[in-house]
Amino acid sequence: MLTNYHTHTTLCDGKNTPAEMTEAAYRKGFDALGFSGHMDPSIRMDWGRYVREISGLRESYKGRMDILLGVELDQWWRGEPVTGAEYVIGSTHFISLPDGRLGCVDWTWEESDRLRREWFGADWYRLAAAYYETEARVWERTRCDILGHFDLVACFNHQRPSFDEEDPRYLRPAMEALETLAATGAVFEINCGAYNRGRRRDFYPARPLLRRLRELGAEVCLSSDAHQAELLDGGFADAREALRACGFGHTVCWRHGADGALERVEEGL
Ligand SMILES: [Zn+2]
Ligand SMILES: [Zn+2]
Repeated sequence: MLTNYHTHTTLCDGKNTPAEMTEAAYRKGFDALGFSGHMDPSIRMDWGRYVREISGLRESYKGRMDILLGVELDQWWRGEPVTGAEYVIGSTHFISLPDGRLGCVDWTWEESDRLRREWFGADWYRLAAAYYETEARVWERTRCDILGHFDLVACFNHQRPSFDEEDPRYLRPAMEALETLAATGAVFEINCGAYNRGRRRDFYPARPLLRRLRELGAEVCLSSDAHQAELLDGGFADAREALRACGFGHTVCWRHGADGALERVEEGL
């Protein structure tokens, strides 16, 4: 099955409309496409409109391609409940600062650098540890089905190297969060979003973390975190190879069964 469950559109911060993303996925031969618009403290959608548009597309493509209605829910979202979402991607884009505000970890490198200097004694490892302490709680706060871009805090680290991702000061808190989340049974996404836009040479989670996930027996799914139609399957071939190299034999996919409920299937690598 060719699938992607992490898809953005013009209803949040994507470049293409839901209809354009759907048609592009269909032309690429997708079996299922899941939309996951942002609901977070800085990017939110008109939820009612989103549900109507995605549900309408599901009807239009019935029998040709399966369409799923999901959400990328940030753990700091405190707005209306996302009623009708068939699945939740739980993400951490912010950390809580001592002044009670939220600091965004994937906005710009300059913003991350400012957070580091103002709140973490100019120490990248302290900022990363604060991120992983927060990330460890993403399932508890969102009850997500899919754990989104686990190591997002490293998003600028290849273009602007700031810390060593193999340093124990980075890996220890990361591994602790990984183990906490693996124990929830939620599926980790292999997110190609930074890789397919040339921002990172690795996926989220990076390979050392993927290898640990394999040891922990965690399940994974492939996702492109597409913000534009061309990248709906961007990086998938390389991500599959990375998964095989880390010992994985399959990914997890979802589709609507005959009764209309979502069913989970394993797709061999
Ligand atoms: Zn995200
Ligand atoms: Zn996303």
